[in-house]
Amino acid sequence: MNAVASRYFEDVGAALTLVNQPAPRRALFLDRDGVINVDHAYVHTVERTEWLPGIFDLCETAAGQGLLLVVVTNQAGIARGLYSEADFIAYTRWMHEEFQRHGVSLLATYYCPHHPDAGLGPYLVRCDCRKPAPGMILEAAQRYGIILSESWLIGNSRSDIAAGVTAGVGQTVLLSAADEGGGMEPGSCHARTLEEARQIIDRSVSQ
Ligand SMILES: [Zn+2]
Repeated sequence: MNAVASRYFEDVGAALTLVNQPAPRRALFLDRDGVINVDHAYVHTVERTEWLPGIFDLCETAAGQGLLLVVVTNQAGIARGLYSEADFIAYTRWMHEEFQRHGVSLLATYYCPHHPDAGLGPYLVRCDCRKPAPGMILEAAQRYGIILSESWLIGNSRSDIAAGVTAGVGQTVLLSAADEGGGMEPGSCHARTLEEARQIIDRSVSQ
């Protein structure tokens, strides 16, 4: 494993979630900006947060299928000094509480605070956690005993999908309003909306 470990925020209810979901575990890995919230660039405040329609329903369906919910997000805004890691953690705590308020328990948010070119001070590093590298997914899998081949990932960029495929995540979903019919890797599919992604997960996991 890499020398630069990826960082994570673990939900206050994680212990209970894990007791209720004994290993071997499966997960849905979620990119954040563009999947959970509208990507307004470097979102780190309540005021700038706009949930993507259908995100709570998607998570409820996934959790109902026995998938743990793990967020994996590049946070170059920390590297660039736009907000501090403490700011990000405070915001992430609020986000987890909002999910709880909607009846959904996130297990953890893994984040990469680094950037290979634009990082300031200790954040200027070529790490193994910044997607498309698979570090965050691999570390979460190790920590929580997640079987990646039976897990899912949803992201809105090719680098999210690449991170999932490299990590060995069995099923990846590219969320994109554009028609992305061609060029998908095996095990990867495309959804135009979160509701479409929800239906794909609902159908596939039920079988
Ligand atoms: Zn990193």
